[in-house]
Amino acid sequence: MKISLDELKQKKAVLSIEDIDFYLLNSIRRVMLSELPKLAIEDVVIYDNTTTLFDEIISHRLGLVPLPTDPDLLNFRDECICDGKGCPNCTVRYTLSKEGEGTVYSGDLQPSEASWRIGEDLVPIVELFNDQRLILEVEAVLGRAKDHAKWQVVTAPGYRLYPMIQFDSKNKKNVEAFVKELPEGLVTSVKKDTLELSDISKLPVFESYMDMEDIDFIRIEKDPRHIRFHFETDGSYSASKALKKSVDLFEQKLKDFTELIDDI
Ligand SMILES: [Zn+2]
Repeated sequence: MKISLDELKQKKAVLSIEDIDFYLLNSIRRVMLSELPKLAIEDVVIYDNTTTLFDEIISHRLGLVPLPTDPDLLNFRDECICDGKGCPNCTVRYTLSKEGEGTVYSGDLQPSEASWRIGEDLVPIVELFNDQRLILEVEAVLGRAKDHAKWQVVTAPGYRLYPMIQFDSKNKKNVEAFVKELPEGLVTSVKKDTLELSDISKLPVFESYMDMEDIDFIRIEKDPRHIRFHFETDGSYSASKALKKSVDLFEQKLKDFTELIDDI
C-alpha cells in the first residue's frame, strides 16, 4: 500500500491511497463517522434565561458546539471510577454568564480548566437585546456519534476512485484537438494512449464536455485500487488526530473480533 498526502490542514485532509482494498478503507470511514470519542455538552443547568429562545433550544445549540477533545485524558462517564456520578476524570464543566445587548458565542463558555478552552469560539448561541441575560452551567462528557450526532467528529468523509482515461493511439490527434476545446488546466498531459486530469474531482466537467461533443474515442474506467479519500473535522480533533485515532480503533476492533472467534 502507498499513501500520499495531497492536502493536510488543521481540519481537513485529502489522501491518495494506492493498492488498498476498497472494503478496508470503507471500514475506516465508518469508524470515523460513528466511533471516535468526542466531548460534547450533555447536562445544562439554566439559572436565568430572559432571552427570546426557550431553555430547550439553547441547550440543543450548546450540545452541538465542538469542544476540544483529548480522549486519552478522559474516561467515558459510564466506565469511570466514579460509577457515572461525574468527576474530573469523566466530566468537563463550563459556566456562562452574559447580560446586555450582544451575541452570546460558544467562546463565552468558561471552562473550569484553561486547557479545555473552546477553539471554535464564534459559534452563535443566542442574541441578547437590551437588558436580557443568560446564566448557566454545563457538563460535557465523552460520547460516540452512533449514540447522538452531537458527538460526531468527522463530517463528509468520502472517496473517489481514480479514473483511467484511455484512447487508441491512432486517435491521438483527435484527442489533442478535443483537449484544446476544454477549459485551460483541466487536462495536464496527453500521452501516447492516456491522458491525465489536473484534479480528479473535475472528472464530471470532463465527462460533460465529452457528452456535449459526442466524443466516443475516449474511454473512462475507474481504478478500484487507487482511491482519493477526503474528510473534514468539526474542530474537536485535528484531521491528523482523527485519522490516527480511527485507525487505532479499527485495529482494536479487529483484535476484539479475533479474540471472540478464538473463544468459540
Ligand atoms: Zn467520573
